[in-house]
Amino acid sequence: MKFTCPNCRQPLLPESINVQTDLALCKACGWTSRVSTLVGVDAETEVLQHPPPGAWYSETESEVVFGATTRSPKAFVLVPFTIGWVAITMGIAYGTQFADGKFSLGRSLIGLPFLLAGLLLVFLTLLSIGGREEVSMRDGVGTVFVGIARFGRRRSLNLAGTESIELGGRNLGGAILLRPQFIVLGGTLTKPRRDFIFEVLKLLKARLDRKQTASPDAP
Ligand SMILES: [Zn+2]
Repeated sequence: MKFTCPNCRQPLLPESINVQTDLALCKACGWTSRVSTLVGVDAETEVLQHPPPGAWYSETESEVVFGATTRSPKAFVLVPFTIGWVAITMGIAYGTQFADGKFSLGRSLIGLPFLLAGLLLVFLTLLSIGGREEVSMRDGVGTVFVGIARFGRRRSLNLAGTESIELGGRNLGGAILLRPQFIVLGGTLTKPRRDFIFEVLKLLKARLDRKQTASPDAP
């Protein structure tokens, strides 16, 4: 079985692994870990290196970035629906005011929730055309981004403070839920992409836990 250094991700050479003393010393970075905590790294690397189409995972010495495109065939439904929604509701609430040539407070107020729903629909529609959900982290601390190009919603994430990573129920549309921060992600992704993000989050959390319990006090 091959092992990878939990600190720098370089492969551990067989001669640097001592099963009797349960110690492994990374030649690349000098990190010492317990061999017993290294089990499973192989399977982990396998998952990380094979994202499904439309998903990605990349790792440098300092940063981990993974995510998936929110592009989806739903766009074919969302685009005409959103255009229709905005045209009809905005036409009734505000267009009529322009047509009458006078301001109506009542119609303006009634129109507001439809305007907000319209904006949300536009956002979801743009996501379905070409957005992404992406996590970037440094030692388990980083951001979760949902949006298009540079525009969208960012939330900070500290994986060390996360107690559970689960797939939410039907009320969350099957999205991934991180507690106790209550960060929801993957809601706009197809199932294979969301499952991949779910696995990556769990692996990174496990890696973080392993790193915290790994022994830096060895010879
Ligand atoms: Zn190392």
